[in-house]
Amino acid sequence: MIREAIVGIGIAITVFFAYLGTNVLPLVLLIGLLFAISVVVEKRGVVSTGHREHPSSHRVEFENIGGQESAKRELMEALDFLRHRDKIKSLGIRPLKGILLTGPPGTGKTLMAKAAATYTDSVFVSASGSEFVEMYVGVGASRVRDLFKKARSLARKEGKDSAIVFIDEIDVIGGKRGGGQGHQEYDQTLNQLLTEMDGMQTTSNPLVLVVAATNRVDMLDPALLRPGRFDRQIKVDLPDKEGRLHILKIQTANKPLAKDVDLESIAKESYGFSGAQLESLTNEAAILALREDKQEIETRHFRDAVDKVLLGEKTGKRPSSEELLRVSVHELGHAIASESVRPGSVAHITIAPRGNALGFVRQVPQQDSYLYTKEQLEGQMKVALAGAVAEELIFGNRSTGASNDFMQASNLARTIVSCGLSSLGIVDADNLQRNVLDEEIRKILSDIEKLTIELLEPFKDGIRQLSQTLVEEESMTGDAFRQWLSRQKPKQFAHA
Ligand code: ADP
Ligand code: MG
Ligand code: ZN
Repeated sequence: MIREAIVGIGIAITVFFAYLGTNVLPLVLLIGLLFAISVVVEKRGVVSTGHREHPSSHRVEFENIGGQESAKRELMEALDFLRHRDKIKSLGIRPLKGILLTGPPGTGKTLMAKAAATYTDSVFVSASGSEFVEMYVGVGASRVRDLFKKARSLARKEGKDSAIVFIDEIDVIGGKRGGGQGHQEYDQTLNQLLTEMDGMQTTSNPLVLVVAATNRVDMLDPALLRPGRFDRQIKVDLPDKEGRLHILKIQTANKPLAKDVDLESIAKESYGFSGAQLESLTNEAAILALREDKQEIETRHFRDAVDKVLLGEKTGKRPSSEELLRVSVHELGHAIASESVRPGSVAHITIAPRGNALGFVRQVPQQDSYLYTKEQLEGQMKVALAGAVAEELIFGNRSTGASNDFMQASNLARTIVSCGLSSLGIVDADNLQRNVLDEEIRKILSDIEKLTIELLEPFKDGIRQLSQTLVEEESMTGDAFRQWLSRQKPKQFAHA
């Protein structure tokens, strides 16, 4: 604005003096200088508010977001009031001021907010809760004010009727108030946000909509959730298998895949991954292909990338050959138990140290399940204990490598007791006498351990042989393992 005025007046004056026959060179230089200063001031203005504005070239559309079908539908419905403002007005509906997106990190909440801006043809400004929190009282509040001011001026500048203000990590400023321990700064920032939202005129132009994201709704001050504030909550959860497949398709659309790559089975193997982890998975797979100088990404690149995202980069740890043999035996114990409990469940066995783990059996979940029977819980306990049991069978002793497994097994035993599935019947585990609970857990564990020994005993020689191979090869696919297994005990594992 200032810049245009300076240029306009400058040109007028210069032309006027030139017309009078004066030397205009100094004047031209002066105007040039003023112009340069105005550019710098304007740029600084943008930087100093600390909020990001998003150039329209980085548009995100709802179709770029995988899974999340119900969240997308709910959000689009809520946004219709921005797209059909006249209808809303004629029916006298109170327009929405705030939408809260809740869910774990990396599930696409930021993407959703950006897609909302594209869908409603709004400008998009964003800030994160942590950016508002500073040592100096009042800074957070004035940043909130700036953010809203910015949204309005940007909308006017770009000739848009609406603006979306996205506040990530809103729990940082929107935690429950009056905790008492000098949270004055947080309170002022939150109060300012509430003031802005309450003052938002639903008839004004541009119309402002606040979209906020958090993974801790329970932490939020109830004042934020009242009608007229964030009165629409949308859950953005971890994707299920179909969702993961959809995200994988989106994230590999620009990548050359080898013919053997089956995204469906990768979606199966990446149980529990968020959208951000799936993005990282496809990227890691491409990097592994690049390292091998391949033109296309192959299945094993994806498989290695799953391990890497789960457990971190392969570490420089170099276990001794005795240790490697022990880790192999241990992992094969887990793998045999896993196949016996749930045929087809082993996806990958590896003894390459990654993160904290020396070895690892990755299991394929059959489907995403939310309820477990006692048999399933006992099966999982067998799988957990089988590592140590295999060590015991082959070496006659155990190592410290199984401490995690034991913790997992005793947690499962505790679940059996507290869900009323143990011999104690329906009990309140919290009020159970300590020694009674401990005794029951110990009994469950030792029963399952006996069953696990019986299960692995027939495979003793087989484990001895295969563990040598595993030490050399470092990893083994689930299919190769099942083929080996079918040669060991064709009767017991008839499926293979
Ligand atoms: P959140 O805000 O929930 O923490 P983001 O929206 O910031 O998650 O997601 C981070 C990145 O992860 C995105 O830029 C995208 O690459 C990927 N991603 C996350 N969720 C999805 C999804 N549902 N579909 C496609 N990509 C996703
Ligand atoms: Mg985010
Ligand atoms: Zn183990």
